[in-house]
Amino acid sequence: MDFLPIFLDLREQPCLVVGGGDVAARKCALLLRAGARVTVLAPALSAAFDADSTAGRVVHRAGHFRDADLEGHALAIAATSDEAVNRAVAAAATARRIPVNVVDQPTLCSFILPSIIERAPLTVAVSSGGASPVLARLLRARLETLIPAGYGRLAALAGAFRDQVKARIKPKERRRFWERVLQGPVAELVFNGRDEEARKALQATLEDTRLTYSGGEVSLVGAGPGDPDLLTFRALRLMQQADVVVYDRLVSQPILDLARLEAERIYAGKERAMHTLPQEDINQLLVRLAKQGKRVVRLKGGDPFIFGRGGEEIDSLAAEGIPFQVVPGVTAAAGCASYAGIPLTHRDYAQSVVFVTGHLRDGGMDLNWSALAQPRQTIVCYMGLLGIDQLCRQLAAHGLPASTPAALVQEGTTPHQRVLTGTLDSLPGIVRRSDVKAPTLIIIGEVVKLRDRLKWFEPVA
Ligand code: SAH
Repeated sequence: MDFLPIFLDLREQPCLVVGGGDVAARKCALLLRAGARVTVLAPALSAAFDADSTAGRVVHRAGHFRDADLEGHALAIAATSDEAVNRAVAAAATARRIPVNVVDQPTLCSFILPSIIERAPLTVAVSSGGASPVLARLLRARLETLIPAGYGRLAALAGAFRDQVKARIKPKERRRFWERVLQGPVAELVFNGRDEEARKALQATLEDTRLTYSGGEVSLVGAGPGDPDLLTFRALRLMQQADVVVYDRLVSQPILDLARLEAERIYAGKERAMHTLPQEDINQLLVRLAKQGKRVVRLKGGDPFIFGRGGEEIDSLAAEGIPFQVVPGVTAAAGCASYAGIPLTHRDYAQSVVFVTGHLRDGGMDLNWSALAQPRQTIVCYMGLLGIDQLCRQLAAHGLPASTPAALVQEGTTPHQRVLTGTLDSLPGIVRRSDVKAPTLIIIGEVVKLRDRLKWFEPVA
């Protein structure tokens, strides 16, 4: 280890920044964030100093650096483009034992600045010891995705309860208590912005003499349409903490691979006409697993609340008093439209978009046809392949021109994505001739025309 990481209390401490350019402005902003009093020594300040993070908050001393300028400062940063000046600052600071950082010159530094992930009061610092700041920044970006934005508030909540916990819980049990709180329902409440409920839940856990909420919890997680890159940070985090993952047929393998290695995987997929598990059984399965104390992730394709029967699953959880949350996902319409280059609305072509299910009940589609067959509206039909004849026929019968552009997006956002375009008239024939298979999304409307111009980036099989 070439550098010892420490966290410095700079509140109200005088710090000197030498240099008036953009880099110097960034360093000033950082010092100000830590509560320092900052003096900038430079002939002039660049426009970057006008930003909110620095404007009116630093003392500008116009002039050139002299050793005596360091007097009385707790820390110095040299950020000029003149190497001789940078060296002079480093030498003078070192002689006075004032910690000094010279931007981009690790050999002149007595301290280096890490890449920072801030979730105040929680701070994570990453450093490559000056070897590769870019690598440190890349690592920082990865950590950013893993650390929920609510971690700061969670840390603050834990801080507020520290004394109470100390008074009530024996030292040996404290660690387990905190682990449970910081990874369980209390934490999830904080991440969902329900801080007051989280506080109450934490208080209740503390007052519960058994000190155990042994029950588990269920997260209904939208896995998006297929491309793992479209997962939300929250989805990924919950998948990596899960004891059990109950997944649908629509959830792609690459997404499943991101779940915690040790997590049990239960397939509850539904294939048309071959329901692997009836919905009622899935509801009961979730309840049972949660009652065993497991952290259950119910992974669903797209968004759980869009043709996902998410409502029914949380119904039975709510009835049983099992903590749950719903994590939205990118719905097939949004994913497929983007990846196929079809904007669902457009100033010139469509002012509204409707999502409908083409699922057949007793052989029929129960839709409000006249409301659908409107000009300047895009129709997105989920589960519509089997009923495609009926869909196109009814829309035409209710006034949509037979020439209305239409598209089929099969396995959208995956490497197997296939996009076929035609018209209301030709769509059923295309489905038969081209052997189109589920999952496929149907998009009908003038916006489909834009595809030729906008399909700039389509995954290739
Ligand atoms: N909750 C899901 C929809 C479930 S209904 C969501 O929000 O996306 C299942 C239907 O969604 C499929 O029949 C198909 O019409 C559509 N669908 C889901 N993923 C798809 C994909 N990757 N490509 C094309 N259509 C998809």
